[in-house]
Amino acid sequence: MIPVQGVSNQTIAVLGLGRSGKATARALAEGGARVVVWDDGQEARAQAEADGLELRDLSREAAWEGIDALIVSPGIPHLYPAPNPVIARALELGVPVDNDVGLFFRSFATPEWARFDAAPRVIAITGSNGKSTTTALVHHILREAGRPVQMGGNIGTGVLALDPASDGEVVVLELSSYQTDLARALTPDVAVFTNLSPDHLDRHGGPGGYFAAKRRLFAEGGPDRAVIGVDEIEGQYLANQMGQGAADDRVIRVSAERKLDRFAWSVFARKGFLAEYRKGRQIASIDLRGVTGLPGAHNHQNACAAYAACRAVGLAPRQIEAAFHSFNGLPHRSQTVRERGGVRWVNDSKATNVDAAEKALLAFDNIRWIAGGLGKEGGIAALAPALARVSKAYLIGHSARDFALQLGDTPYEISQTMAEAVASADRDAQAGDTVLLAPAAASFDQYPNFEKRGEDFTALVNALP
Ligand code: ADP
Repeated sequence: MIPVQGVSNQTIAVLGLGRSGKATARALAEGGARVVVWDDGQEARAQAEADGLELRDLSREAAWEGIDALIVSPGIPHLYPAPNPVIARALELGVPVDNDVGLFFRSFATPEWARFDAAPRVIAITGSNGKSTTTALVHHILREAGRPVQMGGNIGTGVLALDPASDGEVVVLELSSYQTDLARALTPDVAVFTNLSPDHLDRHGGPGGYFAAKRRLFAEGGPDRAVIGVDEIEGQYLANQMGQGAADDRVIRVSAERKLDRFAWSVFARKGFLAEYRKGRQIASIDLRGVTGLPGAHNHQNACAAYAACRAVGLAPRQIEAAFHSFNGLPHRSQTVRERGGVRWVNDSKATNVDAAEKALLAFDNIRWIAGGLGKEGGIAALAPALARVSKAYLIGHSARDFALQLGDTPYEISQTMAEAVASADRDAQAGDTVLLAPAAASFDQYPNFEKRGEDFTALVNALP
């Protein structure tokens, strides 16, 4: 645990008692704060009380007497579409609102570092898609290279539940836009922006607010290096703002589409090869085509971002290349579940939006596509170009019929359930096909979350004879 600094003798309120809220309460107490907690859910409150936490009903104005700050969990809306009433109250009363990420950055460096040979560093990764894969990949590469490393944030361990950094350690954090939006301190040494596509717009009041939330990771902390995906205009804009022109090597530009050879530092992937350029010269090249844990152009983008981040903390190209080959990928992200009779079964349940689904579709050919669930605004119209790779769609869940209307000439069946979709795809599939679960929709109509949806698919596929 990382004890929170600068809070001794303060009274700090924690709203939201999920895993990260509880860890935050502990880290605050360890730092000497008096902690009071609240959750809108009765069950969470009962659990907190059983854990010995002090409850305070923050919906009452009188409860705010003496409270120095409010720390909120990422799941709770703080601005759009409407703030949680407790947060609205804090804003009204002028009580500073922060989150665990802000507390983490404030508390990361300690006086103990004076005895270290090398200061610990933080690599923080944000973006619309590819955050988890890039984070896990950076962590994997550093570990394989023998560096002390920890991983947390939106993936795995909450930031304050990490251990205090050891000598020379690198902490790799995945940060969502909710987390970067609210944190009052954001000071990574290396900040990574993978890409931008519209998602969660309701929580940020539109695309401008969503981009602004991610941009704070760069604008607030002044990282030593900024690794920025420049395949969208927002990334180009950010790279432009972070550096003093093309010759400034504090920015490492990343592309999965274009050759970037006119910048001080760039990493790009084309036709399955990763290339690193510095000052107009190519200094490394890696063949990604045989890297089975990172299929498709979208994963080549993740590979480039991870490569750049690892270079920024001093790894050599060959160390990174070796580790690419031992990376197994994350569950539910273009994960090959089974090869059977020449048919490859791929679980990309994490493709909850159209952009992620498009990337998954573009990574394979001869696809039998299992899609549907709780579709998002705009449906799947944007997927039309990728549908050329689909020989048949198997539509499930709430949006099945809506999706069917947007498929053009692509053959489809309404399968309704995952079990039926898997059975039908199995019946139809021929050697050389890929059966791909990439729903382009949220899972909540049929599953508690995308993990459960992916696990259901995996279990059904593994149960095939
Ligand atoms: P995040 O943590 O940002 O949600 P993940 O690594 O978990 O990202 O991947 C989420 C989904 O997006 C998966 O369906 C995956 O196939 C797809 N994806 C992964 N990397 C990228 C990328 N660079 N661009 C677009 N889609 C991606």
